[in-house]
Amino acid sequence: MRPPSSFEPGVSEGGEVDFERGLQPQDFSEFLGQENLLEPLRLMIRAALEREETVEHLLFTGLPGLGKTSLAMALAKELGAPLKMTSGPALSRAKDLVGILSQLEKGTLLFIDEIHRLPTEVEEYLYGAMDRFQIEWTFDAGVHARLLKLDLQPFTLVGATTREALLTPPFRSRFGHHLRFEPYSEAALAEILARSAKLLRIELDDAATATLADHSRGTPRIANRLLRRARDIAQLENNNHINDAVVQRTFGLLEIDARGLERPDRRVLEALAQAAGRPLGLKNLGVAVGEAEDTIAEVIEPWLIRQGLLQRTPQGRLLTPEGWAALGQDAPPPSDSAEA
Ligand code: ADP
Repeated sequence: MRPPSSFEPGVSEGGEVDFERGLQPQDFSEFLGQENLLEPLRLMIRAALEREETVEHLLFTGLPGLGKTSLAMALAKELGAPLKMTSGPALSRAKDLVGILSQLEKGTLLFIDEIHRLPTEVEEYLYGAMDRFQIEWTFDAGVHARLLKLDLQPFTLVGATTREALLTPPFRSRFGHHLRFEPYSEAALAEILARSAKLLRIELDDAATATLADHSRGTPRIANRLLRRARDIAQLENNNHINDAVVQRTFGLLEIDARGLERPDRRVLEALAQAAGRPLGLKNLGVAVGEAEDTIAEVIEPWLIRQGLLQRTPQGRLLTPEGWAALGQDAPPPSDSAEA
């Protein structure tokens, strides 16, 4: 559902959505490594079904590729409910939203990806729909103004966002339950890789699984993409068998170094080094490396921060001593903290 980013680790651009679909978990039993998210959901489903009501609205937050869309699809399956998928940018006018809401069947799970990109005016129409399954809007103006009310079928809204902080408090408070997606453990990624290898009918040995899991940045989407790139090499050169040598060759082709850094990561680190120890704002960093600000903030930077190579300060981004070391350079002496 997301617009293709110009960089996602281990991937060539675009055109991968269909491949991804084939590996998507179909129900909760295939949604691996996030039992803590499933447990409260199972409870909510049972209680709602017993009351013959729809499940309360849900907010899914977390970085790209952690399974928000997949879980929404699996949830619809578990509920036996129709699923309607759309996104914040696709609902740019209130009319678009009303069109979708008025056609929902009873119990539908309405998934809105990138819900933080919903215009405020559209968001406000959603409030009544979420609270009372009703939309109200005013026709004409002044003395001719008429209020029209439209009753909707009960539905469950699942909003997904990578930028929780951009949601207004009144909007956030309308969701009955909030699921925070965290990076996956290597054990969970190994399970996901094993399942994907089976679906792709490829042999994947334990050492290769561990190396792929270790380079997946806690993200199933990256794990599956690295696996598919390794599969290409295994298919052409190694009798459909992915071992550690095939994985290392894959990393070589993708220019992933021993620390797991890829070219865009290195460009970000180098841009910060060129600022000679002065913090860089997201905008300047984006210009310096030729990447969209969102890609830096949501895809590249979180992993660099988790690796302890980059730090975010109120003045901007800075390299840590480990970041300087990763570039083989010494940190400059501290300077004033104005943005470079
Ligand atoms: P998001 O919506 O958060 O960006 P997706 O749901 O599109 O992430 O997940 C990307 C891919 O990662 C899916 O197509 C699926 O193959 C895989 N994936 C994500 N979460 C899981 C999971 N918990 N178990 C198995 N595969 C997963």
